[in-house]
Amino acid sequence: MKWGLIGASTIASEWMIDAFRAAGGDVVSVLSSSHERAQAYASRHAIKIGVSDLDDLLGDPDVDAVYISTTNDKHFSQAMAAIRAGKHVLCEKPLAMTVSDAVAMVRAADAAGVVFATNHHLRNAGSHLAIRDAVATGRIGQVLSVRVSHAVYLPPHLQGWRINNPAAGGGVIPDIVVHDADTVRFHLEEDPADVIAMSVASGLGEGVEDSCMSVWKMPSGVMVQTHESFTHKYPQTGFELHGTEGSIIATDVMTQRPVGEITLVTGAGREPLRFSGHNLYERAARLFDEAVRTGGRPSADGSDGVKSLAVAQAVSEAARTGHRVTVEYGGI
Ligand code: NDP
Repeated sequence: MKWGLIGASTIASEWMIDAFRAAGGDVVSVLSSSHERAQAYASRHAIKIGVSDLDDLLGDPDVDAVYISTTNDKHFSQAMAAIRAGKHVLCEKPLAMTVSDAVAMVRAADAAGVVFATNHHLRNAGSHLAIRDAVATGRIGQVLSVRVSHAVYLPPHLQGWRINNPAAGGGVIPDIVVHDADTVRFHLEEDPADVIAMSVASGLGEGVEDSCMSVWKMPSGVMVQTHESFTHKYPQTGFELHGTEGSIIATDVMTQRPVGEITLVTGAGREPLRFSGHNLYERAARLFDEAVRTGGRPSADGSDGVKSLAVAQAVSEAARTGHRVTVEYGGI
């Protein structure tokens, strides 16, 4: 797979370039809005071509697929252009600024016959694959509730547009609630129906919420409680599922790294659940490659990205209005 990077971003530099290469791919070009930055980024990461015009990157027949990791407000137009150019697309979350734009991206990719995937990394974690397996094989019986602790401290080098630019898609809700929505959907195999929420802008940045708590009701009646934050320096992240026959308590698993601990608690006592320590992003890159070659499904596809965005938008509206909000999935 020959990749073109749309966006000279931190996530590409910290994780995705290595992941594409480890999955057997080649990164052939990178786009930045600044020509100088494109050149510097290309040379720093041993990428042949750095460009500042999207048409130049998309017009290169050598590029099979693009990875879009610009700020959130740019994903829609860049993805639509890539799809029109016949490129496969791995797009960062949130897919777009609105559910209707995200739906349009997925429909355009379907019509063009290209693979379109969302970079939800957590469902690729060995920890979450083990949790999903334990739930699916009935080890905790019927699930009653889920609690997600995803309060972290946003590292200073990421404290730019995320905390002070709502127009670029900043805020903890578009940034982290989408991941929690995807992870909950992955484990429960159903989509949240209604949400209530509260958020605060406690002053980390300007103009966007930096902490949020919400409660979601699933169609089956399972209740989900989530906590996302950019301002918490010391808590451990966590994911808990409680069922009629047991509970799964996982700590330090809402992270980019393949770490954490999982304990299964049942009437028989407590036991650790073991899991693979593979790289999350590398698995996503491999599954994307396979989907292109065999027509299979990427780890998280476009409809997964639409649904996680739909939940985040419902949480945002619920926090803003103080009302319970029904999640609208845009017909996907
Ligand atoms: P960055 O802020 O690093 O990059 C976003 C854009 O900001 C880049 O495209 C670049 O513009 C510009 N930029 C970056 N660094 C500089 C700099 N030093 N000087 C000037 N401009 C700069 O964002 P992230 O990598 O943190 O996030 C990008 C996307 O990836 C977002 O959609 C985010 O939600 C998603 N993300 C997903 C993660 C996941 O695990 N799935 C984890 C982290 C982020 P240009 O390209 O024009 O140069």
